[in-house]
Amino acid sequence: MEGSLTARDRVGIQDFVLLDAYTSETAFMDNLRKRFNENLIYTYIGTLLVSVNPYKELGIYTKKQMDIYMGVNFFELPPHIFALADNVYRTMISETNNHFILISGESGAGKTEASKKVLQFYAVCCPSTRLLDNVRDRLLLSNPVLEAFGNAKTLKNDNSSRFGKYMDIQFDHQGAAVGGHVLSYLLEKSRVVHQNHGERNFHIFYQLVEGGEDELLRWLGLERNCQNYRFLIQGECAKVSSINDKSDWKTVQKALTIIEFSEKDIEHLFAILASVLHLGNVQFGASALGYATLNNSAEVHWLSKLLGIPSNMLREGLTHRKIEAKAEEVLSPFTAEHAKYARDALAKAIYGRTFSWLVNKINESLANKDSTRKTVIGLLDIYGFEVFDVNSFEQFCINFCNEKLQQLFIQLTLKSEQEEYEMEGIEWEPVPYFNNKIICDLVEEKHRGIISILDEECLRPGEATDFTFLEKLEEKMCGFLDKNNDLLYRNIKEVMRQSKNSIIQHCFHAIEPDVKTNNHNTTQFKSSLSGLTEILMTKEPWYVRCLKPNHCKQPDRFDDVMVRHQVKYLGLMEHLRVRRAGFAYRRRYEVFLKRYKALCPDTWPHWKGTPAEGVQRLIKHLGYKPDEYKIGRTKIFIRHPRTLFATEDAFEI
Ligand code: ATP
Ligand code: MG
Repeated sequence: MEGSLTARDRVGIQDFVLLDAYTSETAFMDNLRKRFNENLIYTYIGTLLVSVNPYKELGIYTKKQMDIYMGVNFFELPPHIFALADNVYRTMISETNNHFILISGESGAGKTEASKKVLQFYAVCCPSTRLLDNVRDRLLLSNPVLEAFGNAKTLKNDNSSRFGKYMDIQFDHQGAAVGGHVLSYLLEKSRVVHQNHGERNFHIFYQLVEGGEDELLRWLGLERNCQNYRFLIQGECAKVSSINDKSDWKTVQKALTIIEFSEKDIEHLFAILASVLHLGNVQFGASALGYATLNNSAEVHWLSKLLGIPSNMLREGLTHRKIEAKAEEVLSPFTAEHAKYARDALAKAIYGRTFSWLVNKINESLANKDSTRKTVIGLLDIYGFEVFDVNSFEQFCINFCNEKLQQLFIQLTLKSEQEEYEMEGIEWEPVPYFNNKIICDLVEEKHRGIISILDEECLRPGEATDFTFLEKLEEKMCGFLDKNNDLLYRNIKEVMRQSKNSIIQHCFHAIEPDVKTNNHNTTQFKSSLSGLTEILMTKEPWYVRCLKPNHCKQPDRFDDVMVRHQVKYLGLMEHLRVRRAGFAYRRRYEVFLKRYKALCPDTWPHWKGTPAEGVQRLIKHLGYKPDEYKIGRTKIFIRHPRTLFATEDAFEI
């Protein structure tokens, strides 16, 4: 009947765990859609936060909202990213341990926005002193800088992260944010030299050309017109309506100053960006013998000036490679085709290494120098799953990274949850789930995985082609060997080392990995991912699962088929089932007793018996009902958070 809808009918349920038909995907979808239609983009599955990108400003991230969520029990207010951030923070303080928030979802689902909201919440809500104010500003301002250099417009997202980012925020014992550290993963360097239709290069280039002051551009030899630069126009969309390159440029400049980049650093950084653009315009002709010739000298002139490298050296480096023959070094000229390849490899190397330098510089500025013990909250925001009509090496790496994180999620939640019940001797009906380990193995298994085969092929230069790789894999993929190798010839590296530009000097002086050790991109990526998994395994996990409501980046459109697909592959139904069957909260007896012993005269101030007996005495005194908890071998399991909140509240009475 019209007008008689209850609030629950209209806005749905704020925690899927409370859904009656919790095994039904349709009920799950109905709830999600209902809430989305009411602009309620957040819903819990226990302590996991599901977020649907609204593609519009909802006015829910104000300081007032932060105040509302600060220090309030998780389930007492409507679901919110601030509630999660606050809960993680308070758990960290009360238990003095480390945490991380894994934010996942496909490209454009809202991961980066979510991670920024968490950071903002900590910046605003954590206690601070004047001294620490600048740490706070630097933490916040590292974002626009990293986004300018590491994000780009893609077909899926106008501000797509093209690198994986893990950021630790360090807190002192009083809970003040005192430092941070950023790890970056596999920047998509190929974007520097090539963009697909409808996509752009990294934001920073457009910001410089659009926003750079006249004098600066003159000094860099640049014109205020993106159309003049080959590296900026392959996607034919230098201008994007949702992006204001000019004002973003101002933000980045201000941020660089606050993060304490010196004037010289900033000058050299801009010189590098301009060099990459000039490099992109270098054209090669062919001599009568088919060798590369350098036609236009204007670009080389600017490269020479900006990088502080004699132009004859540059010319030689761009058109020749050095080879060793009988203990002698001889110069072998490139063909025009080969020279283009070497030029692009150089542009990618310059940008990629400068990006790493930038991350290091940010880390120096965020580093906390005193050595007192800190606890950390890690924020993981990686590039999301991507499937295009034509998928290349980058999608392979990005999607593999997502599979690895899904594997971690499975290990940490589904698998470990069930194993824990078993270990603790708690009665339990196992929930079946899809374990994607087979997919990870397919990619990374020693000797048999795709990465092994790819690396093997790359070790047979001249013989191996994409075709032989394809034959081996019996599958269709393209461009792989080339992108995995990323070969920079030795002599051009030597040329770069002559640079007067301090950043370039630094980037090309850094110790080169031994050529004999495996230096392939995928293998490096694989090992840095294992490193990440290790970092995460030592911390307590929290999850934000971002969903994308439609392919058109539009508000108020909820595409059922598309969302259902994400719900499936993110394993949300399985997670719900495990949560529903399980216990929201568990603590070792010692920890539980230490925290709550003051609530019971028998256990306060000293309990003489075992912690397990102490906890039994304590919960009897608190009046827990039998179905509210279970006693395991080493831990107490509490079914619903509200039981715990009531216990917490008892402190205040
Ligand atoms: P990628 O994997 O490509 O980096 P992502 O998951 O990081 O994607 P975001 O860049 O966070 O995606 O979000 C894409 C866009 O969606 C944002 O630029 C913003 O316009 C919009 N958006 C995301 N989350 C929100 C939100 N909570 N409120 C309003 N708009 C949002
Ligand atoms: Mg992102």
